[in-house]
Amino acid sequence: MTVSTNSTLTPFAQKLVAPLTKQTISVLQINLGRRCNLACSHCHVEASPKRTEELSPEICEQLVELIHRFPQIETVDLTGGAPEMNYGFRPLVEAARSHNKEVIVRSNLTIYFEPGFEDLPDYFAQHQLRVVASLPCYLEQNVDKMRGDGVFDNSIKALQRLNQLGYGSDSNLTLNLVYNPQVPTTLDFALAPDQQPLELAYKQHLGEQFGITFNHLFAITNLPIGRTKFHLEHRQLHQPYLQFLEGHFNDSTVEHLMCRNELSVDYLGNIYDCDFNQMEEIPATTPKGERLTVKKLLDAGSLDVIEDVKTAPYCYGCTAGSGSSCGGSLL
Ligand code: SF4
Ligand code: SF4
Repeated sequence: MTVSTNSTLTPFAQKLVAPLTKQTISVLQINLGRRCNLACSHCHVEASPKRTEELSPEICEQLVELIHRFPQIETVDLTGGAPEMNYGFRPLVEAARSHNKEVIVRSNLTIYFEPGFEDLPDYFAQHQLRVVASLPCYLEQNVDKMRGDGVFDNSIKALQRLNQLGYGSDSNLTLNLVYNPQVPTTLDFALAPDQQPLELAYKQHLGEQFGITFNHLFAITNLPIGRTKFHLEHRQLHQPYLQFLEGHFNDSTVEHLMCRNELSVDYLGNIYDCDFNQMEEIPATTPKGERLTVKKLLDAGSLDVIEDVKTAPYCYGCTAGSGSSCGGSLL
């Protein structure tokens, strides 16, 4: 759909019937650092092999304590960068699994071919981690264009290894894939395609060509932040893309937004409402305007100290069409 470049954007908060409030926290998403073996064009955290920021032992210990002290945390969601490359990955996995919490690892799959990381698939299976793996397309040339040469081949080999271990077939070993559309290069924008037919197409192609099975496909809208924003701005498409997303605002997605029941933590221990706000450095605050850290939550003895979620224009990306989150479409 082509959009007019003349209209102005309605502030996201004005679009809402009521302020976006926090619900009881049940998800702790931890961004362990910016280091990654890849440097994808759509990466919203601008990760790469050259980045060095990562969790410190001190913050890792605080997070382990948080996991131990709060039974209300049902899910620990580990992201990065490549979370497996950053300090704290295994201690956090083992702390959360010792309390039977669900642990999600957002894996780029190719990390298993880097020296020192070859045992990761076995480690994932041993601890029954839910693997959410990015495979932005089932066609080699599209994946390599977005992520780099050879990434598709290695991703296929990694998925086959996970399948051999029982991922995708054993009910305790869940393997979900993530689809990201390509960053728009013209005004002819499109929302992510419907998740169900796309999942079927992925299953058919990956099954027939490579014998791969997986559980579900998550279709995620590109939010205009990080490298995506940079590429859009370079082509004067940033504002038109936001207007396109606003034009598809769907109020029924709002009650399902992931920011409502999660805390997002950065490698320094600061708290945000979601990973996107973390990348754009919009911290979560208490009703008195105080910024939060893991240490402050431990001192307060509560995770439920935020009332309103901080919103920004890119929130239109989460609420357009069927909605979008780290778990795919919302409806
Ligand atoms: S694999 Fe993920 S974290 Fe790494 S550069 Fe690509 S999108 Fe960013
Ligand atoms: S970017 Fe999405 S998840 Fe984050 S605050 Fe906005 S609507 Fe919520």
